[in-house]
Formats: sequence, structure tokens, C-alpha cells
Amino acid sequence: MSAFVTALGNLFKKPATVCYPFEPTYKPTDYRGLIEHVPEVCIWCRRCEIDCLSGAIVFSQDLEGQQTFHYNPYVCIYCGECVAVCPKEGSIFQIAANAAPAVKAQDVNNQWGITFDNAVESRKVYMAEKKRLADLKKAEQAAAAAEAKAAAAATVTTAAAVTPAEQIATAAPIVPPPSEPTAPTAE
Ligand code: SF4
Ligand code: SF4
Repeated sequence: MSAFVTALGNLFKKPATVCYPFEPTYKPTDYRGLIEHVPEVCIWCRRCEIDCLSGAIVFSQDLEGQQTFHYNPYVCIYCGECVAVCPKEGSIFQIAANAAPAVKAQDVNNQWGITFDNAVESRKVYMAEKKRLADLKKAEQAAAAAEAKAAAAATVTTAAAVTPAEQIATAAPIVPPPSEPTAPTAE
């Protein structure tokens, strides 16, 4: 009988459950959701990528050294480690939202694998190009130094080849020092 009364009373009460997904659920202010990156603030240290255990972050790099942030919300486990480890406040943070459900056509896992591999490869290419340019510069400096040394050696050789007679002929004429004035003699 009491159960019947309770059931009857519940008919006139507000629902005790949340009508998700028709109504948004409550989210605490420190909710750990999607990652947002701010390139204008980032110092590109890549610590977030290194500390992300899921491999949800990767940076690519072009030949000028410019990096680009890539993030996969479907691999992310919303642990917040990337935010915690970031040394530059405001360059990465979490928002109170989750990723929208992915559809098969997006092929998110395979596409992420390709993005990740390409990003890692782009950094290798950048480093190889940087090394090539540094080696080139070093070789040019060494060539210039060798050229300067050879030129200096040639000058010394030329000077040594001049005969004493030529040295005398080209030397400045010896001007005798002015004679001391002498006292006039008595006639
Ligand atoms: S929240 Fe965790 S899993 Fe997601 S990107 Fe950051 S470190 Fe990786
Ligand atoms: S840890 Fe922070 S500053 Fe460093 S690359 Fe990531 S977002 Fe940028």
C-alpha cells in the first residue's frame, strides 16, 4: 500500500533523473574536456606532445622551422597532463566539452595515424635540411679561410723573390740630415 502511495506521489514530482541527451548535463567548472591550443601564446617546446601518453598531440614542422599543432580528440583521454606540464600559461587548456561522435566516413583512426607519421617525418626532414645548411656554411667558411691563407702565403713569396738590387732601386732615396749651422769665421 505504501509503495502504491509513493508511486502515486511521484506522478506529481519533478523527475529525479537527467533527461540527457535532450537536456545538457551539469558540468563542474574544472571539467576535463577537449583540448584547445593557442598558437599565438605557445612557445613550441613540445612538452605537451612528449607528456601525452595517448599520443593525441603531435607537431609537424615545415622547412622554415614553423611548427603546427595537431590534436586528435578521439585518442585523447582528457587526462589534462598536457595542460599541467605546459610551461607557458594560456597556450593550452581544457574546455568543458567532449568530441562529437565520429562517423565511419571520417576514418579518424587511420587518418590520425597518417597525420602523426607525416608530422614526425616532417621534423626529420627539417632537421636534415638544417644540418645540410649548417654543413654548407661550414664548408664555405673553411674554403674562404683557405683562400685567405693562400693569398697571404703568395704575398710573402712575392716579397721574398725581390732581389737586393731591386729592393735598393725601389727604396726611398736617402736624404742626408740637414747639416748643423756653423759659426761664421773671422776674415
Ligand atoms: S588531455 Fe591527456 S590524452 Fe588528451 S591530449 Fe592532453 S595529455 Fe594527451
Ligand atoms: S607545452 Fe605548452 S608551450 Fe609547449 S608546445 Fe605545448 S602548448 Fe606550446
